[in-house]
Amino acid sequence: MKIYVDKIPNGGLELNEKIEPGLLSLDEHTVVNFIKPIDVKANVMKTGAEIFVDVLLEAPVEYTCVKCLSKFEYIFRKKFDIVREIRPAEIVELDDEIRQEIIVDYPMKVICKAECKGLCPNCGQNLNIGECDCKSERP
Ligand SMILES: [Zn+2]
Ligand SMILES: [Zn+2]
Repeated sequence: MKIYVDKIPNGGLELNEKIEPGLLSLDEHTVVNFIKPIDVKANVMKTGAEIFVDVLLEAPVEYTCVKCLSKFEYIFRKKFDIVREIRPAEIVELDDEIRQEIIVDYPMKVICKAECKGLCPNCGQNLNIGECDCKSERP
């Protein structure tokens, strides 16, 4: 997301952009699995030598449950502020900040539901779907 400092009116500027996850190089972090563009809403205010940016991120993400390995969709949502010193006519690039904020808050271990039964260690059956035949052999 780029902000043209010269184009921020006195009353502030509202931006609404879709950022392709690839543009944020999030794919290097294999745990981050955005399935659609990230919706970024920003409110930009300029005061003298600084800009204040209120950012709201929203993106559907595909998680993999660490217990049963099933995939499920979830909306990743985060609100944060950015304060930046600016020079006249500068073009401020916010992608780095946005990337950092996502990585900091992205959950590493998710389970699909609190009562997830996981997989049978013996045959790999997803026990949320049904019991397997090796029930008696399970420790
Ligand atoms: Zn699960
Ligand atoms: Zn089993």
